[in-house]
Amino acid sequence: MIDVSNLSKSYGDVEALRDVSFNIGSGEIVGLLGPNGAGKTTIIKILTGYLQPDKGTVLINGLDVLEHTREVQAQIGYLPETAPLYPELSVQAYLKMMADLRQIPEAEQRALLSEAIYATGLQEHLTRPIAHLSKGFRQRVGLAQAILHKPRLLILDEPTVGLDPTQIVEIRHLIRRLADHSTVLFSTHILSEVEALCNRVIILMNGEVKADARLSELEATSDAVLVLEQRPADAQNLLQRLPQVQGVGMFKSHDGFPAYRVLGRKTEKRDADGGDLCPAIYKLAREHDWPLRELRRDVRTLETVFNELATPGNAATNVMTAAEVAQ
Ligand code: ATP
Repeated sequence: MIDVSNLSKSYGDVEALRDVSFNIGSGEIVGLLGPNGAGKTTIIKILTGYLQPDKGTVLINGLDVLEHTREVQAQIGYLPETAPLYPELSVQAYLKMMADLRQIPEAEQRALLSEAIYATGLQEHLTRPIAHLSKGFRQRVGLAQAILHKPRLLILDEPTVGLDPTQIVEIRHLIRRLADHSTVLFSTHILSEVEALCNRVIILMNGEVKADARLSELEATSDAVLVLEQRPADAQNLLQRLPQVQGVGMFKSHDGFPAYRVLGRKTEKRDADGGDLCPAIYKLAREHDWPLRELRRDVRTLETVFNELATPGNAATNVMTAAEVAQ
């Protein structure tokens, strides 16, 4: 559905995107997660044909966005960061205007308008001027215009930004319902939003894709944390040589002791320890008489992955590459 290859974009001296590539298949609901300024809006504007990249290509359903901008835009439902609303118009008049702008034939408009209005729960508010609506309801109007033409692909830029907790929950329900019929890509800087909505996350930082993974895979990856009283010279090497180990990062525990994050290798079959690295590490520690302080299994969550990626110089980050969490 979406094929992004080697996108780069600068605004003057600011390098907003650097060699960004990813693919999104039909039916997926994907969160583009990153801190402020990571480049999320820039990617979305390029995907929707509103901004030209300096380098790279975007194919939507096999069509190059730069060459077939209008055709691609006709296939996408797009909700920009600030929904393009006309506050003086009523909800009904605005949606009718959007149907005309989308060149939906008059004969089809009635049914499509009614579907979009019911899907977004706007039926009680049709005659109200948009200016009199709450921010949550204005966001619903933005979503209604995005789904009016029944797009197979929905691209939403920070769809819940600025909403109160109740409105956030409502808009999330709505997005989940819309995802039954469309592929959805949305940007956010909120971890819980990704956990609540997506089956896959692409983490963007400083204009680069740092991780691209299914949430179930992130959480199924088995890591262990080993904390010792002192750091034996060969511990990292020996841990690294265990057959079930992918990588070993060194850091200091919160109370200042030498610590190791040991990452499990991904295998098709579960081993005898059910993917738990601790028994093998414990055996190694006993054999070499390491001064053991703590050994625990560490289930990786989106939050731990994000924090590791966001912390420059964290030794554990060195072994947590994008390739490792990628599918
Ligand atoms: P936010 O979550 O704050 O909206 P973002 O992840 O969407 O951030 P972008 O808006 O894509 O990030 O911005 C990426 C980088 O490009 C930032 O450093 C931003 O300051 C810069 N940038 C974006 N638009 C422009 C512009 N029109 N001119 C100059 N710099 C820009």
